Amino acid sequence: MARYTDAKCKLCRREGMKLFLKGERCYSSSCAIERRPYGPGEHGRRRGRKPSDYKLQLREKQKVRSIYGVLERQFRLYFAEANRQQGATGENLFNLLEKRLDNLIYRLGFAPSRASARQLIRHKHVLVEDGVCDIPSRQVRVGQTVSIRAKSQNIPQVVDSLKDNSKRDRLPFVEADDKKLEGRLLSEPQLSDLPIPIQENLIVELYSK
Ligand code: SF4
Repeated sequence: MARYTDAKCKLCRREGMKLFLKGERCYSSSCAIERRPYGPGEHGRRRGRKPSDYKLQLREKQKVRSIYGVLERQFRLYFAEANRQQGATGENLFNLLEKRLDNLIYRLGFAPSRASARQLIRHKHVLVEDGVCDIPSRQVRVGQTVSIRAKSQNIPQVVDSLKDNSKRDRLPFVEADDKKLEGRLLSEPQLSDLPIPIQENLIVELYSK
């Protein structure tokens, strides 16, 4: 399976903002964007020209792909599905991304990052309702319960993530029980609930060309 293997902090530095891709480190003074607040690479410090509309659209799309850890092909499929659904395409797109199982495990605070959540899921530590699910992209429906298996609740990445939960935003569409390591999707995720500013209209414009 294809995946991004370069340094994750480069993605934040390229977008000029924290995307919170590495868990605990993102909240510490070791965060790369705090130490080197300019773009990666040889030309990272250069002051560029005024960006074109295309560049703004492309960067916004790349930022969102990096946040959710989704590759280009899969992202296009999400966009096609969002476009097919009724309602605003941008809202639908984020609704689909937020309902991914790996994202929910992260949002519930059971994993320090989405990458870590994906690993927990792939290694069969996660239940959806009462069944093991090892598909990180699975769409969780409103009302469904997701949890960490009883025998997996002492895994260091889960224990450490729970300790750091106070630093993270708990979003209104999820409810978590930190003792049972169980949570639920309470309602359809809304774009306005998300803690990172996103201009979804730029992504819609990019793919509508
Ligand atoms: Fe981004 Fe986290 Fe790296 Fe900071 S530590 S640059 S927020 S991935």
